[in-house]
Amino acid sequence: MRLIMIVALSVVLGACAGNRPVAPAIGTIPLVSFVLDDGNDTDYLLGKKIFAEQGAAACSAVTAGLINSHYHLTPDQIRGLRDAGWEIMSHTVSHPNLKSLSLAELDDELSRSKALLEGLGVTVNNIVYPFNKNDEQVRAATARYYRSGRGGTYAFNLGRTDPYFLKSFPIRHDLPLMKSYIDQAHADKSWLILYQHEIDTKVKVSDKQGTFNKGETVKLTPSGAVARYTTTHWFPIYGYHMYLVPLSGTPQAGDIIIGSSSGASARIDYTIYDEISQLGEMLRYIRATYPDMKIVTIDQGLDLLGFPKYQPPNTPAITEKKP
Ligand SMILES: [Zn+2]
Repeated sequence: MRLIMIVALSVVLGACAGNRPVAPAIGTIPLVSFVLDDGNDTDYLLGKKIFAEQGAAACSAVTAGLINSHYHLTPDQIRGLRDAGWEIMSHTVSHPNLKSLSLAELDDELSRSKALLEGLGVTVNNIVYPFNKNDEQVRAATARYYRSGRGGTYAFNLGRTDPYFLKSFPIRHDLPLMKSYIDQAHADKSWLILYQHEIDTKVKVSDKQGTFNKGETVKLTPSGAVARYTTTHWFPIYGYHMYLVPLSGTPQAGDIIIGSSSGASARIDYTIYDEISQLGEMLRYIRATYPDMKIVTIDQGLDLLGFPKYQPPNTPAITEKKP
């Protein structure tokens, strides 16, 4: 009898996250989702092709206040991603730590980002919390406007899962580690959500002459690759590391990089990481090793797992704390 009471109580408690429903079917289908945070234009310029090559789509979590700004998505690019099957997610308007906001500010970030994006003609059902930061107050407010919210915590989604506290792992420049996450998710039939930001390439360079201009186009010879220069970091032991967004071709060891506006130059010693090839490798690994593992957007994952659809609330938001 006592055991039955404990089981009954844990079912009741487990079925609630605040007063929200939890996952019905996590643990029945291995799922993996890729989310690119912040709305960088590399989602469109590079990501769209990488995923299309594997017949897959990712999610772009757009910071609405950065649309059309330097190196961020334009409205046409956002619609282009949607047309390629990508899910457009909210990532708030101004990318604040939502835990630090008043209730009125919180409500504004959640509601206005969705409205701004939907004003561009895309449907927005889900949000990524900036810096992955959320708490019970943030999650309760999020439920007014969204079907789910994603945080971090380096965890798989398995068992009782609050849709407003989806877990994720950042993509690291460590392919064996990424493959081990995929293996684990497949073994447990859990939902693995992976995220990263801008898609770029990092190279070690030497013989650096002059100063590159941020955002300028650089030409690489002899490979013929063309890239956008992002930034350079100087490390006392390792020398110069340059960050490039390859717009066509692949930067190669031995290439001379020449800035189109600055005239600066440098030679590539070797590639430290190449996110285009890494993302492609991860997708090919999933397709080749686990044909039953589905690569889904967040909304598709929620559908497959039987989470409820978004329902607009019928009561006004509480935007002031009671005195
Ligand atoms: Zn972000």
